[in-house]
Amino acid sequence: MVRCDVCGVSNAIILQRHTGRYLCSKCFIDDVRSRILDEVRKYEMFRDNDKLLLALSGGKDSFVLFDVISSIHDVSRLGVITVAEGIVGYSRDEDIIWILSRCKELGIDCIKTSIKDELSYSLTEIVDLSNKLGVDVSPCTYCGMIRRRIINRYARELGYDKVLTAHNLDDEAQTALINILRGDLSRLIQSHPKGPKLSPLFIRRVKPLRKIYEWECALYAYLKGFKFQEVECPYITTRPTLRAKVREYLYRLETVKPGTLLRFLNIIDDLVIKFLDSTSRLPDLPTCKICGEPTAYNRSLCKTCELLTKVGVIR
Ligand code: SF4
Ligand code: ZN
Ligand code: ZN
Repeated sequence: MVRCDVCGVSNAIILQRHTGRYLCSKCFIDDVRSRILDEVRKYEMFRDNDKLLLALSGGKDSFVLFDVISSIHDVSRLGVITVAEGIVGYSRDEDIIWILSRCKELGIDCIKTSIKDELSYSLTEIVDLSNKLGVDVSPCTYCGMIRRRIINRYARELGYDKVLTAHNLDDEAQTALINILRGDLSRLIQSHPKGPKLSPLFIRRVKPLRKIYEWECALYAYLKGFKFQEVECPYITTRPTLRAKVREYLYRLETVKPGTLLRFLNIIDDLVIKFLDSTSRLPDLPTCKICGEPTAYNRSLCKTCELLTKVGVIR
């Protein structure tokens, strides 16, 4: 048996490939927690008296976010929101049960809603309409933008200061590379923790797990007794999106050269900070004529309303 490289006492359970260290379960959990807290402090993601809304889907990453943040922040200043997509063959009911029961135990407000409750159509119904009309938009695009809008509106109307999401390092590295490949500098900057706030209607979203590998979230959750959902969203494999290709490519690089994802996101962070320091403040975004939420410069409708109108969800 190999001893833990940190405490030197307990047996190691894992080789953390990006550091080359063997760790026992306690030192592994401590390492993940302290890296999350370092990232929160480095970018001043929130302050002690901020009201934080945790946007949780119920999976392993949500578990890690909830576990760490509820242990360091005043629970009376925490809330949780969960937005069920409504995807045939993919129920989040069991995931949502643990969220509700933990919130009840700790006295945390929990908003449980769904795309169907908010728009009268579930995600599957929207995707079916879209396919029927030949609109070439992936289910994940509808899903992401609709959930983001719902969460932002609840956060704003209920007076939260920040929205915390459970995106991990793998998600963030993929997003950064996709934005680079698409030449989308604006989105690259927006996804940075210090990206400019382009509208007073946006509640800042921060991602405390952005430097934690997905496998580390999975192991943390497992070691803490979290039960995983076996079923994957069926839309993940509907078509080979750019994200799927980028994910595979980055995993290959990470396998050959451990630490690649971490170094990549760190360098992007440094470059974005330098860019932000050297540019002047951008004007506020205009608002959408239909929903009143912010939209891109030179647009009168937001992308969500434009697409939902196209498929007949908004008339
Ligand atoms: Fe939504 Fe896509 Fe995730 Fe499925 S895979 S839950 S459609 S974002
Ligand atoms: Zn140890
Ligand atoms: Zn709109």
